[in-house]
Amino acid sequence: MKIEATPLQNSFATLWCHDSEGHPYTFSEYMGLSRSFHCYAAPGLIIGGRMVDMALRQLPRGILFDAISETAHCLPDAIQLLTPCTTGNGWLKIVHLNRFALILYDKITGEGVRVFLNSASLNAWPEIKIWFYKFKPKQKQNTPLLREQICAAGSSIFLTRKVQIRPQWLKQRASGKTVDCPICGEAYPEKHGSICRGCQGEAPYSAYDHAGQDWNSDYRHRSRTGAD
Ligand code: ZN
Repeated sequence: MKIEATPLQNSFATLWCHDSEGHPYTFSEYMGLSRSFHCYAAPGLIIGGRMVDMALRQLPRGILFDAISETAHCLPDAIQLLTPCTTGNGWLKIVHLNRFALILYDKITGEGVRVFLNSASLNAWPEIKIWFYKFKPKQKQNTPLLREQICAAGSSIFLTRKVQIRPQWLKQRASGKTVDCPICGEAYPEKHGSICRGCQGEAPYSAYDHAGQDWNSDYRHRSRTGAD
């Protein structure tokens, strides 16, 4: 394990990261890009840009790669900003370990690079440490100082490690047969069981129509009676 030896940077005009096409962004340009995508230049998204850059530098050129984010916060957006990997195209997966780490890897061989925050290094950067460990509520954090420290710290707060992705993560998703659910009437993968997962209780909502009636029971009623 080694700490990337990159000179400290103190200017927002300094090169911060590249995308997978090789397009460079200064710190301030990348903040602008982040704002256009994520509404504001969140510290985790700024840091994530540098992490993606570090992983890209260590991947062999010209390979097809996939990405894994070990957190749902900020890092997936940095990956989506700087690489072709998105959750929508399936090349970016989120594994809910809640560790601030990402992996880019060869989608055929599974050989990849993991970039993660070096917790011990944050002792040199108190404002980054306050933000990362949530030692103060967000409104009491010093955002300008935090950005300055992120910029100055550069790559020095990350570690990289070569990894081999496990075979089960390299498998293509088998789609299987699609059928209509006998309860809600919506199409779902048959392998999920005799009814869809939503109707098995995994839907993240309760649905009501304008009259306050349970939407699903209403749907069932309309399905049975043929009413529209
Ligand atoms: Zn259903």
